[in-house]
Amino acid sequence: PDAADYIRRHIRTVPDWPLPGVQFRDITPLLSNPRVFRVLIDQFVHRYFDQKPTAIAGLDARGFIIGSVLAYELNIGFVPIRKKGKLPFSTVEESYELEYGSATVEIHSDAVKPGERIVLIDDLIATGGTMLAGARLLQRLGAEIIEGAAIVDLPELGGSAKLRAAGLALFTLVDFE
Ligand code: IMP
Repeated sequence: PDAADYIRRHIRTVPDWPLPGVQFRDITPLLSNPRVFRVLIDQFVHRYFDQKPTAIAGLDARGFIIGSVLAYELNIGFVPIRKKGKLPFSTVEESYELEYGSATVEIHSDAVKPGERIVLIDDLIATGGTMLAGARLLQRLGAEIIEGAAIVDLPELGGSAKLRAAGLALFTLVDFE
């Protein structure tokens, strides 16, 4: 059986959450089932094993769950990129526009060293704003981004196309319309 299809079948769609008209793609069923969780993580392990990333950077908060397991499996470190106000040491930050308002993400200024080779991971790419902001933070610290990775892409929202147009390579496992 196709791994991507197996993973897709364990993503739950919640209509009208958090707002009317939004179809929220919920990955918690992927995490609670140990067989599908392992298949999921193994997709990323096999893709990145030979590329020898020096660390995995994960986006707050679901990127932490898959990113930390991936880092552990690859025997490399994990770096959190957090929503503003959570990291205690000196940080660099990037803000980006949302449909209503804006958001800011931060990374510790010593979290990655120049020349490090990083995989940046999250659960889902919608408009791409979150991943682009994370990529900018890593680039500002001098890191090379091997690739942005996510479980789900929502291609109709244009985020993955925008990220690729900005020069970021991307790997996603499942598309939803
Ligand atoms: P973007 O910045 O518009 O690409 O939104 C992506 C961010 O919002 C990621 O951190 C996702 O975790 C979260 N997100 C947006 N829509 C969904 C969804 O349908 N399911 C899960 N996460 C979502």
